[in-house]
Amino acid sequence: MTADSPALSSSVLLLNRLYMALRVISAKRAITLIYRQLAEVVSLEDGNYLSYDFDSWLEVSAARATFEPERHDWIRTVRFQIAVPRIIRLLGYDRLPRVGVKLNRRNLFARDQNRCQYCGRKVRTSELSIDHVIPRSLGGKACWENLVCACAACNARKGGRTPAQANMRLIAKPTRPRRSPVLTIKLSDARYASWKQFLDFAYWNVELK
Ligand SMILES: [Zn+2]
Repeated sequence: MTADSPALSSSVLLLNRLYMALRVISAKRAITLIYRQLAEVVSLEDGNYLSYDFDSWLEVSAARATFEPERHDWIRTVRFQIAVPRIIRLLGYDRLPRVGVKLNRRNLFARDQNRCQYCGRKVRTSELSIDHVIPRSLGGKACWENLVCACAACNARKGGRTPAQANMRLIAKPTRPRRSPVLTIKLSDARYASWKQFLDFAYWNVELK
């Protein structure tokens, strides 16, 4: 594989054997799993999800490279070129997806879309801080409902006060996200539209008749 190929940075949704979304992995990891026959490609075609092993996906790739190259990101090696699958499914893995979204910096910034929740300005990740809406000194907890992104200026202005005390307003009420905010951002990219069905919580929880 050519390591500098931009396709290697594109994302692939990993499903377990039961078609439940586990996590997002790199294209390189996905191709390796397919190649080692630990997973298969799941491809959305005319509303149906079809599956392919490495060899059949290679054939499909050859056809698509000719007729609709713009539909995919490509990994090119000396011997072949292969389309980066959008979704793959593990063939022998029944671990269930994590319930709930992990509260960490990355997910919090993604939830707030890197926007300061006081002035509304979009700020680079390196310049963004996390603010306790109700300060820790006043009993505010580290939870989804009490943590927001803030720019340095707003954070300094607010200090150890509540928004009301500082005469500042949140642009939105902080809530616990239903699914990973990182995935939600990916879903806004047309390339990853086929992920939606697998990420829709309701889809997996409707009662089957
Ligand atoms: Zn701000």
